[in-house]
Amino acid sequence: MSRILGVVNLKGGVGKTTTCVNLGAALALFGFKVLLVDLDPQKSLTGWAGVDQWPTVSNALTGEVDPLQALVRWRKAKCWIMPAGMDLRLAETQLMATSQREYILKQKLQRLTDFDFIIIDSSPSYGLLTINAICASDEIIIPLQTEILALESTIPFFEALGEIKKRYHPDLKIAGILPNMYDSRTNLSKAILDQMRASEHLGPLMFKTFIRKNVKLAETPSLGYAVTRYTSSYGYEDYCALAQEILNDSDRAKMEAKKRNSNSKNSTATQLGLAELSDDIDDIDDDLVQDVEDEEALSLTETDN
Ligand code: ATP
Ligand code: MG
Repeated sequence: MSRILGVVNLKGGVGKTTTCVNLGAALALFGFKVLLVDLDPQKSLTGWAGVDQWPTVSNALTGEVDPLQALVRWRKAKCWIMPAGMDLRLAETQLMATSQREYILKQKLQRLTDFDFIIIDSSPSYGLLTINAICASDEIIIPLQTEILALESTIPFFEALGEIKKRYHPDLKIAGILPNMYDSRTNLSKAILDQMRASEHLGPLMFKTFIRKNVKLAETPSLGYAVTRYTSSYGYEDYCALAQEILNDSDRAKMEAKKRNSNSKNSTATQLGLAELSDDIDDIDDDLVQDVEDEEALSLTETDN
């Protein structure tokens, strides 16, 4: 069974896509098999991965293709993605006429049992796609900018979320509110974070982890990498901390089992004189997935933050 996490906030630019990719890549580093689903017509996640191909999540949603056919491997992030296409808004309109229209993504993702985590990137607008993202999720992550009035800005969102939960998904859980763009150089960010934590309603929902402002997080989308490539960056540290915080007991047990399995595979390989086994995520039938190119950007150097 996959654990399905939606990354949701009706406010734009708070770090939904950044969180989807970098949390996914951090979980993949821990050895989990991760699928990222782009359910935002802006296609930021798809653009980041450099995917421009058919079929997409739209075709999976409308039933034109099996969801397995819409998977693409994104090696630079060690994840798979189900990309969005130009026609996602159109697909949303088509879905309006479908019965059980709020649960279509949920039904489609049920086919993909091979992943440990499925993370859904959603759009900042309140429509059927966002409702599908929430209804398909076991839990949601709510990124929030560490800025003045950030808490006030969540009021309409929490009202909408309460309504969706009541009408369509009473079991929905909030994994946590994730403070993002924390500026460690200013006292203001600290004061805002303290205010968020002290809030009666939202304080108990906050993750311990917060994501610092980090130039690597802003740069990586244009390079096609996740921040996990830059192990000396704040972004790497923060998203690995978030991934750790998200793991539950059963995830940890799974992680240990994977580690043992991979150690024994590697020792078999060593005994046979083979090169070290790839740490790539390779268990899905190769014929079913396409590949995003993985050319090394030779001009890249690893720098601090
Ligand atoms: P939208 O609602 O439009 O989909 P979003 O919520 O997905 O936006 P992102 O695209 O993830 O937000 O982030 C908005 C911008 O802020 C991006 O340019 C991203 O690179 C940058 N960004 C996000 N988090 C950080 C951070 N911690 N440090 C520096 N830049 C960041
Ligand atoms: Mg986005």
